[in-house]
Amino acid sequence: MATDYDAPRKNEEELDSDSIEELKTRRNEKSSPAVDEDETEAAEGFELPGADLSHEELAVRVLPKQADEFACGSCFLVKHRSQLDHEENGMGICKECAY
Ligand SMILES: [Zn+2]
Repeated sequence: MATDYDAPRKNEEELDSDSIEELKTRRNEKSSPAVDEDETEAAEGFELPGADLSHEELAVRVLPKQADEFACGSCFLVKHRSQLDHEENGMGICKECAY
């Protein structure tokens, strides 16, 4: 009975490898090398400036508030001291939120 199990397994493996090789050859035939190069160049062009932009955004967000600025405890925006209406629980409240 064991030999009966081995026989179909070998056939399946042969079928799998055959289909994989077929897929590989089909892919090579479908995608022309010119298209592959264009796609690679486009992806690289997008990645480099994207990384730089995210770094700049991070630097802007981390920028500490200045001495004449405060972070509103209600809207959480960093505003100028002139926009400070009052303080609540040690948090500045801007004039817009005080209304
Ligand atoms: Zn506010």
